[in-house]
Amino acid sequence: MINFSLPITDSFKALDAAARDRILVLDGAMGTMIQTLNMTEEDFTANGHIHGPGCRHHQSDHPQKGNNDLLVLTQPKAVEDIQLQFALAGADILETNTFSSTTIAQADYGLETAVHDLNVAGAQVARRAADRAQAEDGRPRYVAGAVGPTNRTASISPDVNDPGYRAVTFDDLRRAYGQQIDGLIEGGSDLILIETIFDTLNAKAALFAAFESFAKIGRRLPLMISGTITDASGRTLSGQTPTAFWHSVRHARPFTVGLNCALGADAMRPHLAELSGVAETMICAYPNAGLPNAFGQYDEEPDDTASKVAVFAKEGLVNVVGGCCGTTPEHIRAIAEQVAPYAPRKPRGTNNV
Ligand SMILES: [Zn+2]
Repeated sequence: MINFSLPITDSFKALDAAARDRILVLDGAMGTMIQTLNMTEEDFTANGHIHGPGCRHHQSDHPQKGNNDLLVLTQPKAVEDIQLQFALAGADILETNTFSSTTIAQADYGLETAVHDLNVAGAQVARRAADRAQAEDGRPRYVAGAVGPTNRTASISPDVNDPGYRAVTFDDLRRAYGQQIDGLIEGGSDLILIETIFDTLNAKAALFAAFESFAKIGRRLPLMISGTITDASGRTLSGQTPTAFWHSVRHARPFTVGLNCALGADAMRPHLAELSGVAETMICAYPNAGLPNAFGQYDEEPDDTASKVAVFAKEGLVNVVGGCCGTTPEHIRAIAEQVAPYAPRKPRGTNNV
């Protein structure tokens, strides 16, 4: 299924050229920005009027407060404004607000039927923010269709008494991711970002699905793959070191491989150095704004996060940097300023394009 003979898109070529020229900047956290808006249940559902780009209505009897992805349908302007703030702060790549827009994750909210619309609209909203930023300062922005891990894991049993049990299969994930990625491409994504990977098998299902989607449109988009280290010994939840993680995904020839979330930049650095030492492709890193406090909030100041991320750049470890949980437009502005003097890491291979 994985077919590298498909032509790459024009924006793939432009993105690749830009990444060889300088360190690119990815945006920051959508979730923590949405929290500051203190939206109510009525805001989340637009008073019960949930409809997609084609005016198809969606209904659910579950509460929707906290279903951040739904806001691309019900409060698109709020999401677009946050993305525009990140873009004007210096982000080259804007993530769609679609981290949980799969049937598997939306089942928690009874909105499985809205998944296609969530992804199409999620990409359209980010595209509008990208185009507005480009109109303002002339710099191109790229839309990254964001694909999260879902809330189920294909390689570990959730039941300690039944280690062979799986709450989800590879094919369930492949189908759900395929539906998501088709929508993200239809809505105008320039690339697909498979992020916060805690289970490599889930990510492999997403990669397989991405190539199925590329075959449908006859073109190949850039893939960014980002794992998350959840364990003090430097492993993912499914038990892999950064080196093992790279060897599990390199067959997809990603544009970037990297790490995000879970840790602040300091704790991420050795794992990133390991990945940078083994991966032939470009490297992406977007840590949280430090570690959460007792209330689950992130207090690391923009300049602190930025000076730690700038160490990655100074050491020649990175090609794309940004922020995960707790990072605001001010964090992204500081990161963009502090990495600007440094050259991007030179990938040792050319397996991205
Ligand atoms: Zn995070």
